[in-house]
Amino acid sequence: MYQEKRAFELLEKLAFVRTAGTRQEAQEAQILAAELESFGVEAQIVPFEIQDAKEPRASLKVVAPYEKTYAVTGYKCGKSTPQGGLRAPLVYAENLHEANLVDAQGKILLVNTRVTAEIYQKIVQSGAAGFISMSGSMLDEPDRTDLDTRKLREPLLRHGDMTGVHIRIADAFEMVARGAREVEVTLENENETRTSQNVVVRMEGSKYPQQVVSFGAHYDSVPFSTGVYDNGAGSVILMELAWWFAKNPPLRTVEICWYGSEEIGLMGSKAYVSQLDEQQLKQRVLMVNVDVAAPVLGHDTAIVTGAESFAHFTDYWMKMGGYPVTVKQDIYSSDCIPFADKGIPAISFCRFGAQGAAFIHGRNDVMAYLSQQGLACTLRHVLPFSDALVRAAVFPVEREMPGEIVEKIDRYLFKQDLKQA
Ligand SMILES: [Zn+2]
Repeated sequence: MYQEKRAFELLEKLAFVRTAGTRQEAQEAQILAAELESFGVEAQIVPFEIQDAKEPRASLKVVAPYEKTYAVTGYKCGKSTPQGGLRAPLVYAENLHEANLVDAQGKILLVNTRVTAEIYQKIVQSGAAGFISMSGSMLDEPDRTDLDTRKLREPLLRHGDMTGVHIRIADAFEMVARGAREVEVTLENENETRTSQNVVVRMEGSKYPQQVVSFGAHYDSVPFSTGVYDNGAGSVILMELAWWFAKNPPLRTVEICWYGSEEIGLMGSKAYVSQLDEQQLKQRVLMVNVDVAAPVLGHDTAIVTGAESFAHFTDYWMKMGGYPVTVKQDIYSSDCIPFADKGIPAISFCRFGAQGAAFIHGRNDVMAYLSQQGLACTLRHVLPFSDALVRAAVFPVEREMPGEIVEKIDRYLFKQDLKQA
């Protein structure tokens, strides 16, 4: 039904950095299309536009009570500083408790937490002139890590743009320990529109062509990452599905999509779903997503974004086959979201690495922590499960999205904020 060796060899070919809207991402799409063609399946490469920015130029210098320049990355889509930079007092604002923000007006805030839409709104409302965020660990060796890159995504920008830079935790620690109280920040940002693309395959169902099961996996990566665990592995699992359905024509229509630009906010799947009309949305009876797979040490999970009955069905099915898959009913931060947002039930398959045994979103997402056997752990249930659904006499999954799942999706997509704005 599948060949983990063939899949793993393809994964090796896909293992290079390919961020949203780059030449490398387009090259990856071509590799996927060529692989499909090698067994007689024609793919469409569907372009879409993404709003992004060039890698900003940014700097941070402590000017009092000591002088030192620290390595920073600038927030893409952030507000550029005036010529000569922005000089302001520094406030260490921790996790942005109200008491941390009493005198924030006109100052630059150093914050511990990830800058989510909620945190960003607080920063903007405090009247601060800018902010500095941090990531990593005190135990990091600077020459073995990359400074994270950050972007003010659309839900944040609804609150207005602002100057932000990002530093290593060890540098933030030093600034606070040495009592840094005045800093000079520069940010030169230039927004740009770029093109990304989805790779799409459609195989018409022989018996129920109007019922479409939509498979998806994203193939882009974050900066510095060869993106094999996240999500070259899911991409090659989808390729095995394409192999299977090419050799065993499906009863229901099968659509297989490799999505670009997932890592900057699910842009590929959002673009895909947005071009479907009411009728086409109604035809989609299920979305099957694969995002993260193949670690040597790990465990398999299936996340059902749909009815509780579908979660039970999946759980029973896995147990009957003897597959060690933990089934949950929840949302998952991946390409299933735009589908579920339209009421289409979704299921996401993931093999999560054991703590400390596999890494995502950085230079340590590499082949060394993955194996053919690890890949087979997911292939061996995703393929027969998918095949059984595609050929079912009666399609068993109800089109039902429980209220608490809808709420989670709305929160995830910041719909609440949108209403307030
Ligand atoms: Zn992913």
